[in-house]
Amino acid sequence: MSINATQGVFPTIMTETHASEFVQPFWDAAKKDKLVSARCTKCGTFRLPPGPFCFECQHREIEWVELPGTGRVYSFVVVRHPLAEILQPAVPYASGIVELDGTQGAGSRMIVNFIDCDVDTLQIGDEVEADFEHVNDEMTVIRFRPKR
Ligand SMILES: [Zn+2]
Repeated sequence: MSINATQGVFPTIMTETHASEFVQPFWDAAKKDKLVSARCTKCGTFRLPPGPFCFECQHREIEWVELPGTGRVYSFVVVRHPLAEILQPAVPYASGIVELDGTQGAGSRMIVNFIDCDVDTLQIGDEVEADFEHVNDEMTVIRFRPKR
């Protein structure tokens, strides 16, 4: 297997999505450079990824809500040692969790790759914004970079 890896960017190894119908709206929105989250139609709790039941009220129905595409670094790690030889060109890179704006501060978080940043100065609480990498017609990968 060969990949094109860039320092700081975890390479997209998968080129096909295998999303269920339940989460397909997330990937469809990403193709249009939009970040969305599922929200419980009964109590308003954000659910990302959406499970079959709301963890607050056990309601089943959801609606998809467009988010601003910004957030704050909630947690992260810097990977300096490649997990596989093909990842050597990508290190060091930062991966972690972003808390998404528009989810009332208590809802949706995403595991992401933080790009276009100095991994030695990245900090918890930094403001970040989404980047949409269109891998192909079917797949868009969402990463986050420091907000400018
Ligand atoms: Zn609910």
